[in-house]
Amino acid sequence: MCDYTNNDDLEYCPKCGVDLKHSPIPRKKSLEMYGGASHFKREIGIYCFDRTLAYVCPNCDKVVQVRYPELWKIYQKMTDDERAANAYWR
Ligand SMILES: [Zn+2]
Repeated sequence: MCDYTNNDDLEYCPKCGVDLKHSPIPRKKSLEMYGGASHFKREIGIYCFDRTLAYVCPNCDKVVQVRYPELWKIYQKMTDDERAANAYWR
């Protein structure tokens, strides 16, 4: 379960091995999900409680880094509505 890395600067996804800094994004996926960006810049941040809780690999959609393990545990138990309500401070 606790196989997340805490490296601040991941260069490669520990799950699928994709180069997180330089890999080209497949065109179709890019247009659907990343606003037409041509390369992965970084893992995707999961933003909640006014901070980035964790990062997800843009290639395999696996969690590659957890920054706030306690908040991340809470987040994982939340419903989609709760997540939306807590996405930003009000
Ligand atoms: Zn991956």
